[in-house]
Amino acid sequence: MTTQDDDRRALLEWLAKHDDPCPICAYALRGVPEAKCPECGAQLRLSVASPNASTGAWALAVVSFSLALGFDGVVLFMGGVAALIDLITNGISWSGDAPQILLFASPLIVLALASATGLWWFFTRRRTWALLSRRRQWRLAVLVFLLVGVAHCIGGLTMIWIGNNF
Ligand SMILES: [Zn+2]
Repeated sequence: MTTQDDDRRALLEWLAKHDDPCPICAYALRGVPEAKCPECGAQLRLSVASPNASTGAWALAVVSFSLALGFDGVVLFMGGVAALIDLITNGISWSGDAPQILLFASPLIVLALASATGLWWFFTRRRTWALLSRRRQWRLAVLVFLLVGVAHCIGGLTMIWIGNNF
């Protein structure tokens, strides 16, 4: 008998005694005769899960950094193109205008780099993240969401201040 048959038999034995819902359509699978959901037809297999590996909090943090990076990237790109066109059409003064434009954009550049670093951390340290308790995962994810928002408010205000003072 192959491992696959063993797994299938273990699954059916498990479902003979437990009220587990189909992970796709939530149909009650107790007593199903084969490793397939009779309602939606999804293939079923027995697996080992960990509540720490749930993706909700991780996704919130990743989406926060992704949105920030996407926003910063688009604004930097459009602002950069506009500044370049302006510099070219009005005669390039690399010594005067360019450093000033760079100074104005610097909060956005810092935010973009910080968001990229955050994203990199969340994708490369998945295991470190998963070993935190779920409660801590959610706390950190909400903290990331709030910090990204606050940092962007501060960044925007800094840009307005630079724009008015230089
Ligand atoms: Zn189903």
